[in-house]
Amino acid sequence: MSQTSFTLHATDGAARTGVIATPRGEIRTPAFMPVGTAATVKAMLPESVRATGADILLGNTYHLMLRPGAERIDRLGGLHRFMNWDRPILTDSGGFQVMSLAGLRKLTEQGVTFRSHVDGSKHMLSPERSMEIQRLLGSDIVMAFDECPALPADRARIESSMRLSMRWAQRSRDAFGDRPGHMLFGIQQGGLEPDLREESAKALTGIGFDGYAVGGLAVGEGQEAMFACLDHAPGHLPVDKPRYLMGVGKPDDIVGAVKRGIDMMDCVLPSRSGRTGQVFTRQGVVNIKNARHQDDPRPLDEACSCPACRGYSRAYLHHVFRAQEMISGMLLTWHNLHYYQDLMQGMRDAIAEGRFAAWEAKFHADRAQGDIPPL
Ligand SMILES: [Zn+2]
Repeated sequence: MSQTSFTLHATDGAARTGVIATPRGEIRTPAFMPVGTAATVKAMLPESVRATGADILLGNTYHLMLRPGAERIDRLGGLHRFMNWDRPILTDSGGFQVMSLAGLRKLTEQGVTFRSHVDGSKHMLSPERSMEIQRLLGSDIVMAFDECPALPADRARIESSMRLSMRWAQRSRDAFGDRPGHMLFGIQQGGLEPDLREESAKALTGIGFDGYAVGGLAVGEGQEAMFACLDHAPGHLPVDKPRYLMGVGKPDDIVGAVKRGIDMMDCVLPSRSGRTGQVFTRQGVVNIKNARHQDDPRPLDEACSCPACRGYSRAYLHHVFRAQEMISGMLLTWHNLHYYQDLMQGMRDAIAEGRFAAWEAKFHADRAQGDIPPL
């Protein structure tokens, strides 16, 4: 018994809804995963993250291996115990963040050596080491180690990088071994080139994974190019396995991805924006530092049931943001994460009831308003 499964409950066009079952709990799809980079979703208690409706968190291998270290987390009982979150955790492989954050990188067939952006210490990541770190962390969904070139990149670069990632995918599969209750996802690469996406999908399905990510997007190509890729890329992946779009995104990116058959997403945007005063509402994006809010007794969003909207006015949220009080980041992050989870629930319900197109039309019409009218 694998102790994990993916069950599709309904489809509507290319959009899908279902459940990923793991020993640590069920993940309702389409799912949005809040990002807990350094073993915390910034400004949120784990029980508060759960209260927003999140079924699963994402942890970053690169950050955790550098500080406090994967072996230390293992000695302390694993990442779930360490950060007090007992539900599923997905960890990335570290590959993407090595490319974007580390200094003095050297890439070879074996893996990547690099210097920590924290203290300059020297480290190595390879498919084997990434699998070991994610095992030490106790991750429920482990990502294969891959290389992700920034876009735009020329075709030759995309092609050689994708083929290296496919060799690393096989090594990741071999190193992961047989771990009942844990899932290993392969990562499709190939940039914006349809034939390379297809070749990558064939290589991955030949190896065999528990789920498949569409990698190498949301790296500067723009929404139109990303959607054009998502019009075909997920279609090469197995229908009966979850599909994960990494690092996406804004609310309209997420809706467009779900429409094209994506089941899982993650992004720092709702939590990071919560700390910079950017608030997502059904009517659009609100900047709480704007002076128009300073005398406004209304909540951010009348229809939102989060603590920030139930207990506090726009005037108060404006005040604590301007005064740089810690509660500002706490309340705005809570609201943003709640908004994202409401968005996912809305899509799950719409897909289950076969009315996704109507739901999507209302989503865009509501957001076109920008904000509620000023007082
Ligand atoms: Zn709210």
